[in-house]
Amino acid sequence: MEKSTRNLKNLKFYVHTFGCQMNENDSERIAGILSTAGGKISSSPEESDIIIVNTCAVRKKSEEKLYSYLGRLASSKKKKKRTIGVVGCVAQLYGPELLEKKSFIDFVLGPDNYNLITEIIQSNHEEKFASTSWSREYKEIPHEKIFRESNISAYVTIMEGCNNFCSYCIVPFTRGREKCRPLQKITQEIQNLANKGYKEIQLLGQNVNSYKDPETEKDFSVLLKEANRIIAIEWIRFITSHPKNFTKNIAETMKGSEKVCHQLHLPVQSGSSSVLKRMNRGYTREEYLEKITFLRDLMPDISLSTDIIVGFPGETEKEFKETLSILEEVRFNNIFSFRYSPRPFTGAYKEKDNVSFEEKKRRLIEVQNLQKKIQLELNESTIGKVMKVLCTGKSKKAPRIYSGRNEGYQVVNFKSKNDVIGCFVDVHITSCGPYSLHGEATKQ
Ligand code: SF4
Repeated sequence: MEKSTRNLKNLKFYVHTFGCQMNENDSERIAGILSTAGGKISSSPEESDIIIVNTCAVRKKSEEKLYSYLGRLASSKKKKKRTIGVVGCVAQLYGPELLEKKSFIDFVLGPDNYNLITEIIQSNHEEKFASTSWSREYKEIPHEKIFRESNISAYVTIMEGCNNFCSYCIVPFTRGREKCRPLQKITQEIQNLANKGYKEIQLLGQNVNSYKDPETEKDFSVLLKEANRIIAIEWIRFITSHPKNFTKNIAETMKGSEKVCHQLHLPVQSGSSSVLKRMNRGYTREEYLEKITFLRDLMPDISLSTDIIVGFPGETEKEFKETLSILEEVRFNNIFSFRYSPRPFTGAYKEKDNVSFEEKKRRLIEVQNLQKKIQLELNESTIGKVMKVLCTGKSKKAPRIYSGRNEGYQVVNFKSKNDVIGCFVDVHITSCGPYSLHGEATKQ
């Protein structure tokens, strides 16, 4: 690599993020590294000297969105000379190929290479640069360097990568195999957040339930208990859980740790055992439902959400109907639903993508309409109740209305005469829609 020739001091940078919470947290880490080196974070790509695009490869659609965004950046680069870096999952997947295809990109870095970012920018991109090397160990970026979007709720990454190879999923090829972060580093970061006044933390990983401290082998339940002991943090959440690795012990720890929210995202993906087998998910419909029953017996107030894929190769109408019936049976509080799209390298990529686009579209609409009805019914049952809400800001649509989330992670918009941003507020629910609850703070 070139010797440093450019000082980052006072250069403006902008980070654009596609994808999940892991990517959001990575972008916060990248922003932290660049601002520690003297860069100034900017909210506008047009005004910036450096643009970092953090990418998602999980669905074909997310890649398409990226290419259209990159197209816009290419034209903006003609007007102003700037450094453009592409990082994250698409960067990992295509590496130097991306530099060849899109000549306006200056560097490409996979998720294990963010610690190189300052050096590359300082080298003034005389030569294009790509690094997509893997590490077998979790690469620590000092938590003091993270530039957090919120000063109320913070993401804390506990592990990265995945060993599961679900047949539709590209993650093991973009994030690599599981790498767990030392427990001590995680609790130090949480303690630091508590000292800064954060109220809520969200533990992140592709499969948090398989967490094991690399030194002591202490598992995810121990981590939850340790986090629960940290004073000042009031709510603890975690994502994502794999149903196969979600044990009774974890559920009991959730119940026994008063700060761990009674909220769980447990991706089922399909309600059909035969589709789940082809997806290589490692559980059947019946096993999934058993876990839901156990959870609800233990924590009757638990709020559940899930992911659904429709139109997986070979998914018959009968198998699709089983997905509709699992939605009716579980009555999730929220779902994230997608049309299947083949991803390179995955097991299912070799299968014929034989459910037509029109049919996938129809199935997705059917899933979403059913879920909308269920959510509206569940939300209506909360009218008249008072619930604790962590206020994170003002509503985007109505600036005089406050917004936050309840313990179940539902959006609650409410009226308050006092400025309550960053506070826990008791909200009396007066009305709702399928996607949010509305109410008034009880103490005005
Ligand atoms: S558990 Fe399956 S869906 Fe989740 S990241 Fe791993 S391979 Fe992908």
